Amino acid sequence: MTTRLNRQWRLAARPEGFIKDSDFSWTEEPAPSPSEGELLVRNLYLSLDPTNRGWMNEEATYLPPVGIGDVMRGLTIGVVEQSSDPNFPEGSHVQGLLGWQEYAISKGAGLTKLPENPAIPLPAYFAVFGHIGMTAYFGLLDIGKPKAGETLVVSAAGGATGSLVGQIGKIKGCRVVGIAGGEAKCRWLTDELGFDAAIDYKAGSVLEGLKKHCPDGVDVYFENVGGEILDAVLSVINLKARISLCGLISQYNAKEKVPGPYNFANILVRRARIEGFIVLDYAPRAQEAFADLGKWLAEGRLKYRVDLVEGLDQAPRALNKLFEGSNQGKLVVKI
Ligand code: NDP
Repeated sequence: MTTRLNRQWRLAARPEGFIKDSDFSWTEEPAPSPSEGELLVRNLYLSLDPTNRGWMNEEATYLPPVGIGDVMRGLTIGVVEQSSDPNFPEGSHVQGLLGWQEYAISKGAGLTKLPENPAIPLPAYFAVFGHIGMTAYFGLLDIGKPKAGETLVVSAAGGATGSLVGQIGKIKGCRVVGIAGGEAKCRWLTDELGFDAAIDYKAGSVLEGLKKHCPDGVDVYFENVGGEILDAVLSVINLKARISLCGLISQYNAKEKVPGPYNFANILVRRARIEGFIVLDYAPRAQEAFADLGKWLAEGRLKYRVDLVEGLDQAPRALNKLFEGSNQGKLVVKI
């Protein structure tokens, strides 16, 4: 009988700037066997997320850093291959932080059993019915509190989170302006997703674009990027604007401390509110988001894209797509 191998990516070094091949090592070892009370999961899909980059640094983020030599942490969807736990029967699909590897052992803690619904492809549990959908839903509605008729601006609008945010904003009756890199992404936002306007930050001045497309100023800003884009939006926020601070992707590969926003004083003079959040905080309310997102999806009012990369061996290189902007929708590795 041949031994089944567990192929894995382990963190070999703390990256400086963009990820390099040498920051990871590829290891192969016999697939693990579960002990009493444990499950064996075969990973099928791996979610690649900007936050993965932060987990590789020495400093803790909202989770401890991944140790050098450890299997890289990552959110996966897998199938249960061995189990004596009635909560996770063999053949069921589960989602959890099971790492950049083919097989994982779990005691079930932190694992979610996915509903068996053939109408929902498995990667959609990353793109809509999972952390991304919850981030867009709660980050916009709970923190941004948009009202019909208000102007919502979202950055990284062509990405997984931003594209949902803008569409939810439209559903709530806002004027929605997206900021994204490149003509193709901008056209997708306006022509297919119904955004009122899109600003290509790679083609010209974001500030000029905001002045043109937000004639009544900005009431809600969903921030995914930081840096110059945040500064441009801060200069056009309205009185009592709400800024939902979701991410700062322009800084994740920075080698030095990044200066704060230059237009920070506008938070004071325009009596604005800025609030950061981490999607994990909303876990108890997940079903609230999924009920609305599922309804809007079924009604054709919400669209999403999955950028599927073939092969676990591609994971480190594929992660850089998020920072180059070459991902077209939710970035997922098919293991
Ligand atoms: P996306 O699918 O949006 O991919 C990331 C996109 O960011 C890229 O496609 C690129 O789009 C844009 N980008 C990358 N670098 C820069 C840069 N220097 N300047 C401007 N834009 C840049 O990824 P996600 O939807 O997974 O994540 C989006 C944001 O949401 C991230 O900041 C992430 O950290 C955050 N997030 C936060 C969570 C939370 O709990 N707070 C949970 C999940 C995500 P373009 O082509 O437009 O440049």
